[in-house]
Amino acid sequence: MLTVTQAQAKVLEFALQLPPETVALDADALGLVLAEDVAADIDLPPYDKSLMDGFALRSADLPDGHGSLTVVGEIMAGQAPRTPVGAAQAVRIMTGAPMPTGADAVIVVERTRLLEGNRVQIDDQPPLPGQNMLPQGKEMRRGDVVLRTGTVLRPQEFGVLASVGRASAAVYPAAQVAIVATGDELVEPEAIPGPGQIRNSNGPMLMAQSCRAKALPRVLGIARDRLDSLRELVREGLKASILILSGGVSAGKLDLVPGVLQELGVEAHFHKVEMKPGKPVFFGTRGNTLVFGLPGNPVSSLVCFELLVRPAIGRLMGHLDAGPHWVKAILTEDFVYRTDRPTYYPARLESTPSGWVVKPVPWFGSADLRGLLEANAFALLTPGNPEHGAGEVLAVLNVEGN
Ligand code: AMP
Ligand code: MG
Repeated sequence: MLTVTQAQAKVLEFALQLPPETVALDADALGLVLAEDVAADIDLPPYDKSLMDGFALRSADLPDGHGSLTVVGEIMAGQAPRTPVGAAQAVRIMTGAPMPTGADAVIVVERTRLLEGNRVQIDDQPPLPGQNMLPQGKEMRRGDVVLRTGTVLRPQEFGVLASVGRASAAVYPAAQVAIVATGDELVEPEAIPGPGQIRNSNGPMLMAQSCRAKALPRVLGIARDRLDSLRELVREGLKASILILSGGVSAGKLDLVPGVLQELGVEAHFHKVEMKPGKPVFFGTRGNTLVFGLPGNPVSSLVCFELLVRPAIGRLMGHLDAGPHWVKAILTEDFVYRTDRPTYYPARLESTPSGWVVKPVPWFGSADLRGLLEANAFALLTPGNPEHGAGEVLAVLNVEGN
């Protein structure tokens, strides 16, 4: 049986970056990964620019920071400079306005006082050449590569892309994830379950996990534990980049998923991983489509997604660091848990001034989804000594951290 690390490596072996697409830089592009290097089309700032409201002048005119100068003009942001600044002269200037020729410094308005007859009195420290202004091209020069392939588009990247004239960019597109819940016992959330029935909680949960990973989910609904029903939805799901099935992969009489996948041309790469919950998990591929059969117990399904599916989505979408993301955290209370396999135990992870701390939440096993409402992470507990003392350092899967 593969370890989780081996299973992750196997998945990533088959997870290829999606072909880049050029997209508008609108809300849907937030969090996508750039698939091109982007160069500046102009200098920024495009001109020597004032960073303050005040007076532009020649620093040499005020060797001790005090004196009165003749105000020869006024310049607002958005105006081109007209009047040059000569000896003993100043121009009133606003933040963002281009510096007039001749001036090499700006005195902030708070250090000035207007006098009669177009004069200004200045009482400040001796000005340094270049103070309170940004020279042309200081931020970037035309032709500079300012963003590289692999950069995640955060708000500041949107701003810089706009600054260099880009309203669209090549990105790795959102991965399409088809989601199929399987089980004769399942009814949709709006139905009242009859005898022996339960509501399909995995479908909405996997949809939300896919969205959290910035993928594009396609919820295909419930397949029954019958070959024809499974075949129909699997065929449809195989059109996506990733197909996730929940349920039907264990050793039950009606666990038909691996057989149907094989029949439809999916090559199996593993079936079972040394983990708890989630041991019966299946992974295969058909062409470039990755196929995950997650065990139906809701917590198994959620954990398998975070450990195996999410890194695959990250890789398809061009993330250099596809995760999962682990932190070391200090256990805050004594905890006894006996296990025969590496266990991902629902826990509450918190950042404190002295580092990460973690506390397991009350939990009744892989069918207990409610227990996860208190949790935001999973602590890894390994076989061996079941007694974990407060102060012990644990590896914790930080599923909400990014
Ligand atoms: P299976 O993996 O199909 O053997 O299912 C294992 C357990 O998970 C059973 O108790 C199922 O009823 C439950 N289960 C399967 N699919 C879902 C689902 N979509 N939502 C909630 N529970 C499920
Ligand atoms: Mg089932």
